[in-house]
Amino acid sequence: MTIRTRFAPSPTGLLHVGNARAALFCFLFAKAQNGEFMLRYDDTDQERSSDAFSSAIDQDLAWLGLQPDVTARQSERFARYEEVFTALNEKGLVYACYETPDELDRKRKRQLARGLPPVYDRAALALTDEEKQAFEAEGRQAHWRFKLSGNDVHWEDLIRGSQKIETASLSDPVIRRADGTWLYTLPSVVDDLDLAITHVIRGEDHVTNTAAQIELIAAIGGAAPEFAHFSLMLGADGSNLSKRIGSLSLQDLRGQGFEAMSLNSLIARLGTADPVEPVQDLASLISGFDISRLGRAPARFDPEDVARLNARILHDMSYELAQPRLQQIGAPDDEAFWLGVRGNIDYFADVAQMVTLINGPITPIVEDEDADFIVAAHAALPAAPLTAESWSQWTTALKQQTGRKGRGLFMPLRQALTGQAHGPEMQHLLPLIGYDRVVARLTGASE
Ligand code: GLU
Repeated sequence: MTIRTRFAPSPTGLLHVGNARAALFCFLFAKAQNGEFMLRYDDTDQERSSDAFSSAIDQDLAWLGLQPDVTARQSERFARYEEVFTALNEKGLVYACYETPDELDRKRKRQLARGLPPVYDRAALALTDEEKQAFEAEGRQAHWRFKLSGNDVHWEDLIRGSQKIETASLSDPVIRRADGTWLYTLPSVVDDLDLAITHVIRGEDHVTNTAAQIELIAAIGGAAPEFAHFSLMLGADGSNLSKRIGSLSLQDLRGQGFEAMSLNSLIARLGTADPVEPVQDLASLISGFDISRLGRAPARFDPEDVARLNARILHDMSYELAQPRLQQIGAPDDEAFWLGVRGNIDYFADVAQMVTLINGPITPIVEDEDADFIVAAHAALPAAPLTAESWSQWTTALKQQTGRKGRGLFMPLRQALTGQAHGPEMQHLLPLIGYDRVVARLTGASE
């Protein structure tokens, strides 16, 4: 049996970090078992779904590195949902209801006022054909509910352990609206069955849906997949992360210059007892992935943690990984350059400042009291070409000659050569700046 998971966003908004976590878990779980990761656009709501949001989802997943093996679209499968619906209707497992939203609301309020749970009373099940015709003659269209069995539903959740839900305590779910459009439940179940999903991994806000879905699967005559419901992710302040307000959208995080692996490294571990570590590639996350490590406590997401991981990921990034991106931004395509500067960047875009340190233009800084020292430094500069050893040869000679040491020795050179008081180690920078530019900066600086 091939393991197959699905990430099923509705293309009605931008993905946020909470969605990324669902996608990542589905991806890691499948890949850790040589399985397949499916992207399913839950676009049954055609008014609110858009191609622009579908492409944004594609871009976000590509950025995260979570390439789907298979893609499906619910909007292409309406005929199939109709077929299943007809079969359920023939078996008497769905029923037509005519209450308006206002009437339902009043019923709920009456139940609550009497201290009862606001569960749908199944009044529509008692309607005679004449009563239904009367409603239709009035211009009302039926919406449809799936008839739950009233029994307990059990499943062994891969994260939450043994689960039991009494369907008698639930309202029969509306599966089709009066305008004929589908709610999420039926299409989702039909797709999970038809598209051979073996594991449904999603947030715990779907736990109750799962009970109804397991009953619907049985009614259709399929075998239920395994389920895993992970705890929800909250903001650092405990607030809800809602994709509708686009807070912490992946687009924003990408725009802020975060590495996808910084985000992946963090969200793979949030909500587990395992330490968050900077990880350079998904392969390392796949090999360590164990869904049972996820706990039930909410996971708190703090963008500051991503920023910290970002710097650590860049500081350790191999030249091999950085190279294509160095080329893209016109940085020196040179291992020594990357190894020399990576420790001084927090964001990849900071490489541009490093390129400027080397290629210029820079404005050398020379304090008045260092002017003579810089003249001496120019005279003592080792011959071309400058190498990894040149800095230590040069400063050792200057130390002997001028008696300067420590900061008094190094800082004037750094400021004259880079125009900055901080930056990558000078021993790396010197050969990268190169003899001619070093001379130009020293002479420019000493003029
Ligand atoms: N489209 C549903 C959602 O975004 C999918 C839930 C599921 O994974 O079944 O909530």
